[in-house]
Amino acid sequence: MTGDLLGRFQGLNVWKHGDKRAPHKPLLALWAIGRCLRGEPRLTSYELVDQELADLLRRFGPHRKTIHTEDPFWRMQRDGVWEVDRPSMVRSNAEGGPYKGDLRRHRIRGGLTESAYATLQRQPQLARQVAEYLVASNFPATLQDTVLDATAILPDGVVGTEIRDSDDWIDGRRRRRDPRFRAQVLAAYGSRCAVCEFAGRLGDTPLAIEAAHIKWHEANGPAEVENGLALCSLHHDLFDSGAFTLMPELQVIVADTVRGAGVEASLGRFHGKALRAPPGAGFPHPNPRFLAWHRSEVFRVPGLVR
Ligand SMILES: [Zn+2]
Repeated sequence: MTGDLLGRFQGLNVWKHGDKRAPHKPLLALWAIGRCLRGEPRLTSYELVDQELADLLRRFGPHRKTIHTEDPFWRMQRDGVWEVDRPSMVRSNAEGGPYKGDLRRHRIRGGLTESAYATLQRQPQLARQVAEYLVASNFPATLQDTVLDATAILPDGVVGTEIRDSDDWIDGRRRRRDPRFRAQVLAAYGSRCAVCEFAGRLGDTPLAIEAAHIKWHEANGPAEVENGLALCSLHHDLFDSGAFTLMPELQVIVADTVRGAGVEASLGRFHGKALRAPPGAGFPHPNPRFLAWHRSEVFRVPGLVR
């Protein structure tokens, strides 16, 4: 049962519609696992899922005009981990999705299946590991802890054998960065943050400089210099969070919803300006295709830059 269950959760990791991010099911599963770990009731109203999943999608999903929580609520029934009570009360639309109005009107409830819920309650360590798998395969490392925090799942760092022995686990968790990628990207940018030019060193070792993927590794972005940027830890976090993006000519565009102390000094002042540290001569510039992916799938206000 344990292996089956893990496989079913792994089956949620489908990147549909080509390149578009679709973290809806993984986020709904994470939300439900968090509830299970806290001993909250298995079935919840669609109303509550709608509020709380929409909030997670607003924070961690691609920026979209309309947020559809009804689709994962309904479609996850097919994945063998989720069920909906009284599904016959809900009419389907042309795309096979449910009418949101029916879900509300009939107070339809959904949740993990009884067997999934019981297994995860009995094995909280398995629940945490499934959650870590979902997070690791859908979000870059800079965001993973924030997503786990938001779903109130505390990672415990100990990997159970049933998971450690699974190829898919290794695929999602360990199929980490290509080590050459970091070296090549840092070489291309002179170990300097492309945005703020931070190039601190401790002795000979570059400090707080990272090789960021433009199109996420978790979305099958390649480990190539044309899909990389050298960024300091702060700008790497801000880039992966969608607080800023880049135009094809490498101007920095900052989301107008980023607020707070220090924002102007650390980020706002770069708005509209080209990267201060583009790659050196002979190294490829960021590929416009990967920049376009970042603008539509990660940047918080993609409408601003289309
Ligand atoms: Zn920086």
